[in-house]
Amino acid sequence: MTTRKTRTNLVHGGTRRSQYGELSEAIFLTQGFAYPSAEDAEARFLSAGEDEFIYARYGNPTVRMFEERIALLEGTEDGFATASGMAAVNGALMSMLKAGDHLVSARALFGSCLYIVDEILPRFGVEVTLVDGADLDQWRDAVRPDTKAVFFESMSNPTLELVDIAGVAEIARGVGAAVIVDNVFSTPVYSDAVAQGADVVIYSATKHIDGQGRTLGGVILGTREHIRKVVEPYMKHTGGSMSPFTAWVLLKGLETIDLRVRAQTESAGHIAEALEGNTRLSRVIYPGLESHAQHDLALRQMGAGGTMLAFEISGGKEAAFRFMNALEIVLISNNLGDAKTIATHPATTTHQRLSQEMKDALGISDGLIRLSVGLEDAEDLIGDLEQALAAM
Ligand SMILES: *Cc1c(COP(=O)(O)O)cnc(C)c1O
Repeated sequence: MTTRKTRTNLVHGGTRRSQYGELSEAIFLTQGFAYPSAEDAEARFLSAGEDEFIYARYGNPTVRMFEERIALLEGTEDGFATASGMAAVNGALMSMLKAGDHLVSARALFGSCLYIVDEILPRFGVEVTLVDGADLDQWRDAVRPDTKAVFFESMSNPTLELVDIAGVAEIARGVGAAVIVDNVFSTPVYSDAVAQGADVVIYSATKHIDGQGRTLGGVILGTREHIRKVVEPYMKHTGGSMSPFTAWVLLKGLETIDLRVRAQTESAGHIAEALEGNTRLSRVIYPGLESHAQHDLALRQMGAGGTMLAFEISGGKEAAFRFMNALEIVLISNNLGDAKTIATHPATTTHQRLSQEMKDALGISDGLIRLSVGLEDAEDLIGDLEQALAAM
């Protein structure tokens, strides 16, 4: 098994077949399991084997298939599937932190992630220090002997700034802190986060893992010891487990994720090159472009530029809205990693709640557009973006 390559694992990894030998993975849409005898029930509650399940909140065969397949892709020993990406972020942090612990976190976070580290954790006595994630000196200054963990998104939303996983991990290791990485924008296809020093890797499966905008889901990945002894008890008792139907949708997503993400990345590169130099744009941000300040880090950390880009339209919000309203193929929405190309205006939607000061600090201007590149023909997408820029 272990010598198989990624694409093979994405199609076959973790598969559990019933006595019918079904070709496609079965959806075990059951919350519970009947035991052959009272003695079997007792034994299973005492210690459940690999293929023995008790209750869907604890585990389910379809969910287990998803966990094993995504763990094979990420290169971790194990994973715990969650109801959403936020259930994964919350579970990864809450399962290992307690009152009196210190957490250092990057400031540029998905809104709900910021809510957890900035509002919820302090309420339970966890002290949190926020830093500029791209600045290793700030991490160095912030960690202390009582720092239990560090947390960051490896590529920030929406300005695509990278955090150097290996650099932060080295600093964290110096004080014995665990490294927890929300790796959504990097995607599991381009992730080498564990080799770079991450202890726990989190995905919102809602994004590239589904890749077709159908379902919410998430996963927490790490060592078997950590996932089964720390994460699982917290998740199974607090209720953020993934449904079997969702796991089935995501298993199908994993079969094609490598093909999809690589195709989306190729298109993103073509689009970034086509837009760079367009006179109606004051800035094009794409880690795959040499003009990106962290281009070398992107190549070292991900080996690619990824499926997301951002650009700034001269003329602020009014011009940005005129551009968006002129798009004919690209949709206005806020999902990402989808087969459909999506334009987002962060300042008025995903990041609306941030103070102007915070928006300025994060570079979220009124002219900034985030683009999640999908699976349409790249030439059609470039044509659509260029005609919308011209129509402005
Ligand atoms: C979307 C997202 C989440 C939350 O995931 P949900 O599936 O929406 O709960 C967390 N982190 C990042 C970076 C995201 O993009």
